[in-house]
Amino acid sequence: MKIIDIIKSEKPTLSFEVFPPKTSQSLESVLRATDEIAELRPDFMSVTYGAGGGTSAFTANIAAHIQNTYGVPALAHLTCVSSSREKISGVLDDLRERGIENILALRGDVPEGLDAERIDYRHASDLIPVILERGDFCIGGACYPEKHPESATSQDDMRCLKTKVDSGCDFLTTQMFFDNSILYNFLYRAREAGISVPIVAGIMPVTNALQIRRIMAISGSVLPPRFIRIVERYGDDPEAMLQAGIVYASEQIIDLYANGLRAVHVYSMNKPEVARRIMHNLSAIIY
Ligand SMILES: Cc1cc2nc3c(=O)[nH]c(=O)nc-3n(C[C@H](O)[C@H](O)[C@H](O)COP(=O)(O)OP(=O)(O)OC[C@H]3O[C@@H](n4cnc5c(N)ncnc54)[C@H](O)[C@@H]3O)c2cc1C
Repeated sequence: MKIIDIIKSEKPTLSFEVFPPKTSQSLESVLRATDEIAELRPDFMSVTYGAGGGTSAFTANIAAHIQNTYGVPALAHLTCVSSSREKISGVLDDLRERGIENILALRGDVPEGLDAERIDYRHASDLIPVILERGDFCIGGACYPEKHPESATSQDDMRCLKTKVDSGCDFLTTQMFFDNSILYNFLYRAREAGISVPIVAGIMPVTNALQIRRIMAISGSVLPPRFIRIVERYGDDPEAMLQAGIVYASEQIIDLYANGLRAVHVYSMNKPEVARRIMHNLSAIIY
């Protein structure tokens, strides 16, 4: 089933993300976590793509497993900046043959020392037309409520986002954010810029203090004072931080639905317990 048809329905949707292992040794534990999350019957599940594409077969395998075993629609991520045209064509053919209908088209982070002369794809907007040519896929793109770290200004970032959407995106999924007012402001600016595709809000439940330092480094997200106080108070107590992080994310999601957002994607990071507890907190809201 295509994700665009799922998120356009009247019902609020909730989806979860898993990431593939780096080596086949840990495939079994990732599959175990994937199974537990899929058993919760989210509206769809996404499977990330390892930077560089070396583990692309894991992404395809896990996505096919989710669909074939649980009937849960899968969204396979695909990055392009480190890949040749041949590699991308091969991955797309494989996904199509396995019945994967949904792809999140991404540039990926540019690896240090990448030879600019030899890049086949500079932006996600270069990848999207290739995906369209290669099959009847539903295509998502990434967006950044607090702008992409490489963009000089939010206006520049929004202009590029419009180009990306116009190249053939059916929907967008946001980078994580911890203050919903940032998302509401972004949605307003996106609509003003003429972007009318559905936008799925990406929520990251922060369940340990270490995670926050990584998040800050990767995304540059603003942490609201209310959230910082929670981390300061509970960051050294794993059980308390887990509980507080899940409650914080659940409150964010309830506020998003209450304000008219239809689709929320949870960066569940291969943690079935986190997915289960969030779903429990929303049990009367999402059905
Ligand atoms: C929802 C989500 C899922 C992700 N999943 C993965 C994953 O599975 N694997 C992974 O490795 N990474 C993943 N990432 C991280 C992502 O790969 C990085 O953020 C990467 O740096 C940018 O990818 P993009 O597709 O947004 O790039 P782009 O859309 O190409 O944008 C990158 C930068 O270039 C600018 N830009 C875009 N188009 C143009 C243009 N036509 N001309 C000039 N400038 C332009 C943008 O404003 C931005 O500054 C994910 C991010 C998000 C938000």
